[in-house]
Amino acid sequence: MADLVAWVVELDDEHHEVVFERSEARARVRGARKEGASARDVKARREPRLDAHTPGPVPAQALLDIGWHFECARCYHYVDGDGCQRCADNAEEEAGHEVEWVPPVTRGQDVWCSEACHSADARERAARQLITSAARAEVHQVLPGAQVETVFVNDGTAVVWLRVPGCRGTVRYHWPAGTFRVQLRDHATLLAALRRPALETWESEGGAVHD
Ligand SMILES: [Zn+2]
Ligand SMILES: [Zn+2]
Repeated sequence: MADLVAWVVELDDEHHEVVFERSEARARVRGARKEGASARDVKARREPRLDAHTPGPVPAQALLDIGWHFECARCYHYVDGDGCQRCADNAEEEAGHEVEWVPPVTRGQDVWCSEACHSADARERAARQLITSAARAEVHQVLPGAQVETVFVNDGTAVVWLRVPGCRGTVRYHWPAGTFRVQLRDHATLLAALRRPALETWESEGGAVHD
């Protein structure tokens, strides 16, 4: 049986995938499957320069080296092996004179415009992670029975989408404001859910409340 070799499957003008297969027909089937397309609707061509990366995945740098381009994982700029035109233009405008292009940065399959873009992305991800954890912890404290569906972080704030037992709709919790958004029909259920932990504490302490 023939060995696996590299094929580039052209899913459309912009979207190409590398697959490792034994034949052109198999390459088209596998490439098309990734996009839910039909094998008849895609083209595949041999790419011997990527055979060394069998069985994949191919590091982004190897693809930049043979002329591919990517979107930056942070700012979606168009990045090729030389770097990012938009970042170079911006730097030039700021400096008021021509500046040298900075090389792109890759990690595995991911590409960034530059080292500056890559480290900014890492900082922003870490900050979003902190906010997500803080918002989740707060929800867990006020509504221990709720299930977090998703957390959207934007500009230092978070919206936590929740499933609250008894509520028919999704409940949204805004952090750090501490406010809830709930459908009218679920309003009473949510209020009851919010009171329950306090009541349990009171009962477990023997029901004695002073003042
Ligand atoms: Zn850029
Ligand atoms: Zn970028």
